[in-house]
Amino acid sequence: MKKHNYSAGPCILPQEVFEQAAASVLNFNNLNLSILEVSHRSKDIVAVMEEAQALVLELLNLENKGYEVLFLQGGASLQFLMAPYNLLKSKAAYLDTGTWSSNAIKEAKYIGNVEVVASSKENGYRHIPKGFNIPSDADYFHCTSNNTIYGTQIKSFQNSPVPVVCDMSSDIFSRVLDFSKFDLIYAGAQKNMGPAGTTLVVVKKDLLGKTGRAIPAILDYETHIAKESMFNTPAVFAVYVSMLTLRWLKNLGGISAIEKINNAKAELLYAEIDRNPLFKGYASPDDRSNMNVTFNLADGVSGEVFDGLWKAAGINGLNGHRSVGGYRASMYNALPLESVQVLVEAMQTFEKKA
Ligand SMILES: *Cc1c(COP(=O)(O)O)cnc(C)c1O
Repeated sequence: MKKHNYSAGPCILPQEVFEQAAASVLNFNNLNLSILEVSHRSKDIVAVMEEAQALVLELLNLENKGYEVLFLQGGASLQFLMAPYNLLKSKAAYLDTGTWSSNAIKEAKYIGNVEVVASSKENGYRHIPKGFNIPSDADYFHCTSNNTIYGTQIKSFQNSPVPVVCDMSSDIFSRVLDFSKFDLIYAGAQKNMGPAGTTLVVVKKDLLGKTGRAIPAILDYETHIAKESMFNTPAVFAVYVSMLTLRWLKNLGGISAIEKINNAKAELLYAEIDRNPLFKGYASPDDRSNMNVTFNLADGVSGEVFDGLWKAAGINGLNGHRSVGGYRASMYNALPLESVQVLVEAMQTFEKKA
């Protein structure tokens, strides 16, 4: 039986997407060729790229608003460098809410001045700083919408006097937001959109070309816009599986439909964490992520029995990130509510046995 997969990334995708992807590895579009062996310039693959780009704009409600959609490589980690390379002229403002934000800050410092406007590092990144000042002389403000490792999520985005760049790797397409408030959004596909190997970039075109800096071609967003994400060979299969996942999401009713399911999953699990005396949540309740739920055993409780229970229940990937320990239940779009019910039952069985 298929496992209940709580892996943080690469992660669960819809079963029907796995089936379609598998069929296309054997015979893509009835071409009697595998999708893995056809040219990225062939019309069938160009159509995949175009459909993927169109679905991104449609689902994010960003059609005809001056945005370009790119499918690049190098992961979200390369975007930590590429964004400042393309946008940072004199100074950028960064919000530090965890490991990924601090990695983004580190890379931006190679390019120019970075002002960290607020950080929650001193309390182990358990909360999202609020009410900070975004300097109006910054070229942009960078934030991380969902902190995959610590399990926090920005619930309401502060108004910014400067363009906003957001790493949405682990919660893109999971909740309704006014995406037009963001000027550059990037996301590694493997958290909530598809398999590892491609990175989504949604960028407002009028943001570009303002630094006066010469940018190497492969790091220049304008190159990839001009070449429609085919400056070099794109990660064809990863883009294809992302496209299938976006189609699945659209057929389900889009982001507003999946948001309701995601809210139900999060409410169910957080209610059990708060009720069950053997567990405690990690993140501050106001800032809890609906995607990555982090929790620990209560003081003095040993986890051996619980670990045996969830593994026996067919659950995979519940261990916390290696840097923080504890447990982390990653509940991306494709994880069904039934998987959360199975986890909650294991937690309740553990309580009865203790
Ligand atoms: C996983 C993750 C990254 C790193 O993504 P890669 O594609 O592995 O480079 C960056 N930011 C966030 C929020 C993540 O969850």
